[in-house]
Amino acid sequence: MTDSGRRSPDILMLDDKPGGTRTPLIDAFQRRISYLRLSVTDRCDLRCTYCMPERMTFLPKREVLTLEELYDLASGFIDRGVTKIRITGGEPLVRRDIMDLFAALGRRLGPDGTGDLRELTLTTNATQLAGQADALAKAGVRRVNISLDTLDRARFADLTRRDALPQVLDGIAAAKEAGLKVKLNAVALQGVNEEELPDLIAWAHGQGHDVTLIEVMPLGDVEEERLDQYLRLDTMRARLEKKWTLRDNDHSSGGPARYVDIAETGGTLGFITPHSNNFCASCNRLRVTATGQLYPCLGGNERVDLRAALRSDQPQEQLEAALNQAMAIKPERHHFRMDKRGADPALARHMSMTGG
Ligand code: SAM
Ligand code: SF4
Repeated sequence: MTDSGRRSPDILMLDDKPGGTRTPLIDAFQRRISYLRLSVTDRCDLRCTYCMPERMTFLPKREVLTLEELYDLASGFIDRGVTKIRITGGEPLVRRDIMDLFAALGRRLGPDGTGDLRELTLTTNATQLAGQADALAKAGVRRVNISLDTLDRARFADLTRRDALPQVLDGIAAAKEAGLKVKLNAVALQGVNEEELPDLIAWAHGQGHDVTLIEVMPLGDVEEERLDQYLRLDTMRARLEKKWTLRDNDHSSGGPARYVDIAETGGTLGFITPHSNNFCASCNRLRVTATGQLYPCLGGNERVDLRAALRSDQPQEQLEAALNQAMAIKPERHHFRMDKRGADPALARHMSMTGG
C-alpha cells in the first residue's frame, strides 16, 4: 500500500497473479525492491588484499543457512516481487552442492522465461568456473559477473595471495564457451593495477566482455591502509579519455554503475563510485548474508535476522514480517568516508559477508 492507502500498479500486478496476494517490497522512500543479492558462503579460495586478511576467520558451518533454507528464503523474496537474484559470497562456487540451489532456483525462471523470477545470476572469482559453467547455463543462468583485477600472473598472486590466474582465465573462457555473457569487475587500486587498467579493458573488450571498474570501499579490517588502496575513478576516467573516445551510454541496470561506450574498443565500460552516493535514490536491492542476515544497505549497519524467522515455528509468517521490517529500515543513502588515514573501517563486516 502507498502512504495514502491507494493500491499501486505494482500491488495490482502481484495480486492479479493466481495465488499471489502478498504485497511487493516498497521501502519508506518509495523504492521498489526487485533485486536480491544472496550470499551462500563467507568462505573463499582467494584472499584479495582489499577484501579480507590472509588469516580470515570464517563462520562455523552451523551458522550458515542450509541449501534448503537458502531456497526457501529466495522463494519468500520471489513471492514478494523480487525478479532478479544474484548468488554471491565469499566465493559461491566453493560451496558444496551449490549447483543444486542454482538448479532449483533456475526452475523459478519457468519455461522460456515465463516464471516469476526473470534473472538468476552470480558473481564469482572464476577459479572454479571451468568445471561449472555448463551446469550454470543449463540451470538458466545467462550472465555472470567475474572479478578480475589484473592479467599479470605475479600481480594476481600478490593481489589475491594465491597463484590462480590460469584457472581464472580458463573459467572465463569456459563461461564464454557455455554461452554465458561475461562482465568483468575490476577494483581500481592505487599503485597496484592503475597503470594496467587500459590493457585489461582492451583485452576484455577484445574478448567480447564488458568491464566495470569499482572504487575500493572501507568494509572490514584488511591489514592494509585503505587510503593507500583508494583510487578515484574520476581520475581514471580522465586518463582513459586521453587515450580513447568515451561516450556516455544511457544503459542503466537500476544499479550503481554509470556506463560509457569506448569507440576504439567497441565495448562498454562501467564506473561504480560508491563514495559519491549518486545511486542511492534508485537503489532497488537488498543483500542477505550466508547466515540469513538481511542488510538493506551495503553501507549501513541496519539488519534484520531472516534466519531466526526461517527457523521459527511459523517461518512463512515470520519471514513476511521480517521483510516488512526491512522495508521500514532501509536507509535513504549510505555514507562512506575515505579521507582519513588510519581510520577504522566504515563498517566492521567484510565485503565477503554481504557479497558486494
Ligand atoms: N568472490 C566473488 C568475487 O570475487 O567475484 C564474489 C564475492 S566478492 C565480495 C564481490 C565483489 O566485491 C568482487 O568484485 C570484489 O572485487 C568486490 N570487493 C570485495 N571487497 C571490496 C572492497 N573493499 N571494495 C570494493 N569492492 C570490493
Ligand atoms: Fe574472495 Fe571475492 Fe573477496 Fe576476492 S573479492 S577474497 S575472490 S570473496
